[in-house]
Amino acid sequence: MAKKLGRKTSRLATGASRSARRQRSTAGGSRSATPARSAKREPRTANRGTRKYVYLFGRKTDGNGTMKALLGGKGANLAEMCRIGLPVPPGCTITTDVCTYYYANKRTYPAELRGQMEAAVGSLEQQTGKKFGDLKNPLLVSVRSGARDSMPGMMDTILNLGLNDQTVGALAMKTGNARFAWDCYRRFVQMYGDVVLGVQKRAGEDEDPFEGVIHGLKHERYHGNIEDTKLTAADLQELVVRFKALVKERAGKQFPTSPWDQLMGAVGAVFGSWMNDRAIVYRRKYNIPTEWGTAVNVQAMVYGNTGDNSGSGVAFTRNPANGVKEFYGEFLINAQGEDVVAGVRTPEPVAELKKHMPKAYAELERIRQTLEQHFKDVQDFEFTIEDGVVYMLQTRNGKRTAMAALKFSVDMYKEKLIDWKMAVQRNPADQLEQLLAPVFDLEEVAKARAIATGLPAGPGAASGRIYLNAERAVTAAEKGEKVLLVRVETSPEDLRGMIAAEGILTARGGVSSHAALVARQMGKVCVCGAAEVQVDYQARTVTVEGRTFKEGDWMSIDGTIGKVYAGQVKTAPSEIVAGLIDGNQAAQKTEKFRNFEQLMKWCSDATRMSVRTNADTPEQAANAVAFGAVGIGLCRTEHMFFEGDRIDAMREMILAETLEERKAALAKLLPFQREDFAGIFRALQGYPATIRFLDPPLHEFLPHTKEQQAELAKKIGTPATRIHQRVEQLHEFNPMLGFRGCRLGIGYPEISAMQARAVFEAAAMVQKEGIKVRPEIMIPLVGFKKELDLQIEVVHEAAREVQAEQKVKLNYMVGTMIEIPRGALTADEIATSAEFFSFGTNDLTQTGLGMSRDDSGSFLPHYQDLEIVKKNPFATIDASGVGQLVEIAVTKGRAARPNLKLGICGEHGGDPSSIHFFEKAGLDYVSCSPYRVPVARLAAAQAALAVKVRD
Ligand code: PEP
Ligand code: MG
Repeated sequence: MAKKLGRKTSRLATGASRSARRQRSTAGGSRSATPARSAKREPRTANRGTRKYVYLFGRKTDGNGTMKALLGGKGANLAEMCRIGLPVPPGCTITTDVCTYYYANKRTYPAELRGQMEAAVGSLEQQTGKKFGDLKNPLLVSVRSGARDSMPGMMDTILNLGLNDQTVGALAMKTGNARFAWDCYRRFVQMYGDVVLGVQKRAGEDEDPFEGVIHGLKHERYHGNIEDTKLTAADLQELVVRFKALVKERAGKQFPTSPWDQLMGAVGAVFGSWMNDRAIVYRRKYNIPTEWGTAVNVQAMVYGNTGDNSGSGVAFTRNPANGVKEFYGEFLINAQGEDVVAGVRTPEPVAELKKHMPKAYAELERIRQTLEQHFKDVQDFEFTIEDGVVYMLQTRNGKRTAMAALKFSVDMYKEKLIDWKMAVQRNPADQLEQLLAPVFDLEEVAKARAIATGLPAGPGAASGRIYLNAERAVTAAEKGEKVLLVRVETSPEDLRGMIAAEGILTARGGVSSHAALVARQMGKVCVCGAAEVQVDYQARTVTVEGRTFKEGDWMSIDGTIGKVYAGQVKTAPSEIVAGLIDGNQAAQKTEKFRNFEQLMKWCSDATRMSVRTNADTPEQAANAVAFGAVGIGLCRTEHMFFEGDRIDAMREMILAETLEERKAALAKLLPFQREDFAGIFRALQGYPATIRFLDPPLHEFLPHTKEQQAELAKKIGTPATRIHQRVEQLHEFNPMLGFRGCRLGIGYPEISAMQARAVFEAAAMVQKEGIKVRPEIMIPLVGFKKELDLQIEVVHEAAREVQAEQKVKLNYMVGTMIEIPRGALTADEIATSAEFFSFGTNDLTQTGLGMSRDDSGSFLPHYQDLEIVKKNPFATIDASGVGQLVEIAVTKGRAARPNLKLGICGEHGGDPSSIHFFEKAGLDYVSCSPYRVPVARLAAAQAALAVKVRD
């Protein structure tokens, strides 16, 4: 695999690498192993009752922008652009239903397809005045994939299809440009040979076989000493002959000459590429279902490579890296679209087009406005200029960084393009954390040496040890290293390495290069096209300004400004963190901060569920409140026992053999707990705090090695053998299902009594300071109402005592976690005692699935590969399984106690798609870690808006 990664681009200036060609091709994605499952869905019928598999766009347009499921994103938007009068070369879309059929029927096509394709090609012929396979004026087409969601770079594309030894002559005659015609032909044979006929680099080969042929010819004829663009028509003609011989030798068959054979082969290859490795990896990362399948777009070719009055480009209606409202993108004169992203020639910024082709530029500016007005979102589009005339080849919603998404949404609201609810929806919740990511510390960065500059393609700061290939980057990251992936340019095969890396640095490639696109989507820090960076894959070194860095050396990149630094540079909090947590006024004045505040305000207006935090210290609680949390949803009190000397008292308590000994140890712990709770109540300033009593199995607190046991023995004045015996005694085969949770408090009520007393004493103290206090005591792992009742008695007893002693009236609640199936199923009984439920979805998933949360790592990845589980159920709620337990508990609990308060405090409380589930389930709040609070607020707001829309 690593070998394939280095696949180089064609040396011909107008050539394009296969990987680069993939970069802009789009497709959709996957959940089950093949898309076959949905083959049985109801057929859509055309006029005369036959199923419609081919949709036209152009002068006559069958589809529209809403039909992404059937036509794929590209096909639907091509149709939509035709409908709004933009200049689109005519074409047709073969639906995703055909892909489904193809995989359900041993890679064959429905019987009606060929006839419908012939009719569509007939229509193209009519519209263009050209004929497929014609010897005078041949119609050439592109064949490109396009699924519902774009999958940049995952699928294959074929251009100039329809050429053969005869039609090439006709093209030369018609255009009066033999070099152009032969260049198109050799590109076609190269692309088709690679993608459809599988003529690719073999294991052990260093060079793409087609590239080898090109080099051979250059050496033979020019001693290798020739610019690619200077190859003559005759050279290119000879290349075609040699390419075809190569195909014959490697693929064992002749290159197809019939345009229809070519077309059917290309369509099959696009469908086939839906199940290639890259597509599968991509779908898995972005949770795209396999059954969606891809559509295929067949479109009349237009040429950006006919001369200096032609060109190709990719552009965004606004800057997708930082959100600025500017026409952003790049183009190449006299080039086909693929060349722009191939990184072989360096494209020019699109603004430069104004100088070269003012008319075409003005037309593109008009198109830019039209696209935004119509789609009401930032578009990423491809265009070709053929002899001064602009054509649109694709448009889609531009992938963007979180920073750009935020600015787009606020700016577009101000421009009245979208309303505030849409602005909320425009910010992907799972990307929002990017905005909280650190930036370089200003003082540190001033001291650091900037050694190179590239394009700021993915904002943020990243420092890491450099690795020059994806596999080694992954291996290093797995060992816990911070990794920076450095490549000349990236290709889809690098995806795994890009996922593993903190940041990505490339020496070549513009703002629409693969690295830039993918980094934007993943929220990775990225600097691309840093030309001073010389990458030597063989030596595994990077040289910049005469200084050489070896693999494993540190480098740092600032993807917000495009700078590369030698060594490790310290980072500082982002403006948002600095503004909210540290109250930094300069940070609060930044546009980023103000836009973030605006978004969070909208979230508060939209949301139904509130967001709390899982916090165990006053500092964590204060941070979460600064992020907008309205209380603590889970305070794991056991975390407080690990600090400083407390662990000794805790261990003493566990080792105690009599009630008196245990009470004596607990008495030592009580003041610590009281102080902790008081700090938390103060930090919350009146917001509620759900405090959970001791939960983990006791052995977790004990020393396990001989040395540790001896040390403890000395400290607490007890024989080491006694400690050893007690550790042995406490050993459990299945501790997570053993003596833990409320079972501890039931076995040793004095532990719960101490904890309750600490809570109430702290509450009384803080209340006397004039701060409102709202403790909510939570009993863990309850499966039987009686368990809860026994613990409630202990809590009430302590409350009565403290209120009497302190002469205060405290407002508190007692509730339970619902985290084992029996608790959920008997929620109606439990709710008669519990004043609130908080779903402990970590344990509920563990016990509901019978799958250890600590040990699932050994098989879960494999389960995900096989799509037995589509997402990690410990990260995203298993809605159809564990979710039912939640729904049952909600329904039964509320039936028994209509004002029962319901929340969730498992890890799922910070996961956007789980939050959507909890909104539908009707919970009152979600609780998550402090830095996740903004994400949860956004997801909760979006979920509320989505549910309202559906209602
Ligand atoms: C849970 O089980 O979901 C939970 C929040 O508790 P813990 O993770 O502490 O077991
Ligand atoms: Mg739990």
